[in-house]
Amino acid sequence: MKIVPATESSIVQAARHLKKGELIGMPTETVYGIAVDALNVDAVRATFAAKGRPSENPLIVHVASVEQATSLVARFTPEAAALAIRFWPGPLTLVLKKNGVVPQEVTGGMDTVAVRMPAHATARRLIEVSGLALAAPSANTFMGLSPTTAQMISPGIGAHLAMILDGGPCEVGIESTVLDLSGERPVVLRQGHVSVRQLEEVLGRPVPDSGEGGRRSPGMYPRHYAPRAEVTVVDRLEPGQPGLVLNGPVGPSRFRMPGNAKEYARDLYKRLNDLDTLELERIYVEAPPRTDEWKAVWDRLTKASHRQTLPLPLHDEGVEGEGSDPPRHIL
Ligand code: AMP
Ligand code: MG
Repeated sequence: MKIVPATESSIVQAARHLKKGELIGMPTETVYGIAVDALNVDAVRATFAAKGRPSENPLIVHVASVEQATSLVARFTPEAAALAIRFWPGPLTLVLKKNGVVPQEVTGGMDTVAVRMPAHATARRLIEVSGLALAAPSANTFMGLSPTTAQMISPGIGAHLAMILDGGPCEVGIESTVLDLSGERPVVLRQGHVSVRQLEEVLGRPVPDSGEGGRRSPGMYPRHYAPRAEVTVVDRLEPGQPGLVLNGPVGPSRFRMPGNAKEYARDLYKRLNDLDTLELERIYVEAPPRTDEWKAVWDRLTKASHRQTLPLPLHDEGVEGEGSDPPRHIL
């Protein structure tokens, strides 16, 4: 694979590829993404094809300034501005009503667009040098583990990429918090590093989780972020069981995870990927605490351990146009 250290000259080269409509492996502080020109419909389609991702599952558009975000939405609302001041650049994605500039292919046919300003210097520099807003889903096969190092990107995905910029291990390690600001009330669609409490502090009003009976987001499937092996969360690992522990003995197929939720999240996908290379049938994970700061970790563990390999229909009547697609299995 064409993994290249991220430097000014490799970023300039990557920007040239992007302007030609090609796909690039891009580091962000959350996970590595497949970046493309968000306004180039063919490039966007190629991204879905590379991942095997259903076309109704929208992409996040990455920007390097609030002005650039504003150029993609109907209105960058005062609440969006307040959150951007506090959390951008950083792992918070805002869903807003889109304007006519953003193609339907990016948004899964919806009238909203998800925007984020990444904190990773390489990602921001690539956006600036190319002058493009970059649609970038995680650089993995649909439903699989998101890569948190350049080396974790599979050869299958790598084959679709003109080059991969290596920006080192991701500091956050799990996908961004997704907040929907397009309705009357803000709703968290995906838990992440930025917590609900932090959002509520800025907005000064309650922010429900979509899991609590609220809106659901396309692309939120019960199984997701999953390694090849079955994941089982247990109170305590039996002797000899491979997996991830918080306490107790470690070994070649057993890793100790940090006791701090943010550090745990940073290491989680890398460790699951390490265990996957051992071709285990099952990975056991010692249950972390149930407190608020572990919510995002629990979200990923729950999805990684879900047995359902097919996306459930988003709406009760089924997802239009997707019903006739062949089943999609992980990896
Ligand atoms: P990923 O590319 O894996 O980080 O996932 C992006 C996720 O953000 C999607 O799977 C959706 O769940 C969510 N998302 C992106 N755009 C929108 C949107 N316009 N409305 C609601 N959710 C969105
Ligand atoms: Mg993903």
